[in-house]
Amino acid sequence: MRPDGTCPFCEQVVDYKRNAKSEAALARGEEFSAQDEVPVPWHLKLLLVAAALYLGWRAIEGVGWLVG
Ligand SMILES: [Zn+2]
Repeated sequence: MRPDGTCPFCEQVVDYKRNAKSEAALARGEEFSAQDEVPVPWHLKLLLVAAALYLGWRAIEGVGWLVG
């Protein structure tokens, strides 16, 4: 996630609080840089889980192909 709360992949605002802070800082003419901990957006976790499941399935399929 970018410091302004937007997702670097889909350009959507994923952290509205951070985005609001960023816009408030920009309105004051300041550069916003969040130094606090950045949580992973839920859709990125979902993507990783989906990728892991897919790769796991392909691994099982690959073993089946080798055996059969
Ligand atoms: Zn995204």
